[in-house]
Amino acid sequence: MITQDGWLDWAIRVPGPLDKCYSASNTGIGYVPHSAVGFYGGWAARLFSEERRPDGRYTPYAAASVHGWIAYDGTVTQHYPLTASCWASGCEYPNSNFIAFENEGGLEPHDEPLTPAQVQANARIVRELAAWRGWSDIRRPRDAQDTAATLYEHNECTRWGSAPTACPSRRIPWESILAQAGEPAVVVTTPVESPVTPPAAGRTVTVHLDTGLDAVMDIDEYARGVLPYEMASGWPIEALKAQAVAAKSYAIAAGTVFSDTRSQVYGPLRHSDTDAAVEAVRGVYLANLGQIVMPFYFGHCNGRTRSPSEAGWSSVADRPYLTGVDCACGNTSYFGHGIGMCQRGAQAMALLGATFDQILRHYYNGIQLLGFRDSGDGQTPPPANATFYVVVEGDSLLALAGRFGLEWPALYTANRQTIADPNILPVGCRLIIPRAAEEDGQSDIYVVQPGDTLFAISRRWGCSVADIAAANSLGSETLIRVGQRLIKP
Ligand SMILES: [Zn+2]
Ligand SMILES: [Zn+2]
Repeated sequence: MITQDGWLDWAIRVPGPLDKCYSASNTGIGYVPHSAVGFYGGWAARLFSEERRPDGRYTPYAAASVHGWIAYDGTVTQHYPLTASCWASGCEYPNSNFIAFENEGGLEPHDEPLTPAQVQANARIVRELAAWRGWSDIRRPRDAQDTAATLYEHNECTRWGSAPTACPSRRIPWESILAQAGEPAVVVTTPVESPVTPPAAGRTVTVHLDTGLDAVMDIDEYARGVLPYEMASGWPIEALKAQAVAAKSYAIAAGTVFSDTRSQVYGPLRHSDTDAAVEAVRGVYLANLGQIVMPFYFGHCNGRTRSPSEAGWSSVADRPYLTGVDCACGNTSYFGHGIGMCQRGAQAMALLGATFDQILRHYYNGIQLLGFRDSGDGQTPPPANATFYVVVEGDSLLALAGRFGLEWPALYTANRQTIADPNILPVGCRLIIPRAAEEDGQSDIYVVQPGDTLFAISRRWGCSVADIAAANSLGSETLIRVGQRLIKP
């Protein structure tokens, strides 16, 4: 079974680094079994890799995460709770809505079939996920447009924007998995003890935990447990601060909140940057006529936010601070209700240099910032002597890198502060265009691209994996990483 906090109670727990979880909590509406294209040692080295860019952030190689690992013998090792969003399936939608497990093997040949024990383990995971999240239907997509299925392969996530070069998944025997997943699930629920925090000095909020217990907690402690789920660690600090003020104000105005999406998700994850954002806006709240108000917020809009009546919310009256405003998030559809602050828009504004108070005043027209002393206009001048490019609809990191004669990792590195996820380029965001790297005429050097494997490269070059390994002193290391340079043997 799956515990209330999202762990398979039959799996080995090897928690991965918490700061490799991505974005908000996972809705668990689907499942993606991946092919590891290798063995556990290689994957574990990547999961626990501390490899960082000069600015301190993980490299794309080190940033990857997945809920767990299914070994040849069917043993399942779980790295993250199923409520977490891992950087596994190539873009935001599958990462934050689907559960991802790697299946050991598939290095050579790529279509190495799963072992019977791996099939059983995948089926058990599907069965338990379906029971846990109440899936009405366990099925594969009907066609390349179907987004309502529950079972996808990594390379089928292109419908949400993932790169087509995802891990090869022809090894997944769907018929066998579906046949075994159809067996009735045994659902057992056991109550989980949860400490009840005593009331603290200052502002407090009562949180209905999903264990059924109520906890009265300090508002800042509450906000530290909300931010990692409501906005991704790694987003610009001013966006995180705006989110912290909105989340605190929401809770104080409500008085009592649920710990899930009925209010705001509250959980055990903590990150140093989200904690710092909460600390930076201690005592600051959104107010109207001196009263702390409930500031709604949501994922992203279509370029314009909405008032409650425009969103069809009859239970919430229109208010001056909840009118629709133009938004720079660069999206063309709504994710969420559209009322109040657009989180993607807050990110985009922060990337363009807006401070948290400017972001909040933009989305909440005429709002007061209780407890905040405004110090200057907060404008940051653009860096001198830089070449910029402003992203338009349809741009991708790979295509832009090609246009400017760069390898995409170089473009990504130069803009790591601006780009939270290399798969998502916010329209309107300003990229620094670095000078093309000199390759010293070494035409036999290849830069590893997303989705590449040694095996695939060896086939393109007409040589063997061993030849490449020898030419590059790779030894027994079989996993390569994006951006790595390989010498053609
Ligand atoms: Zn994959
Ligand atoms: Zn927006």
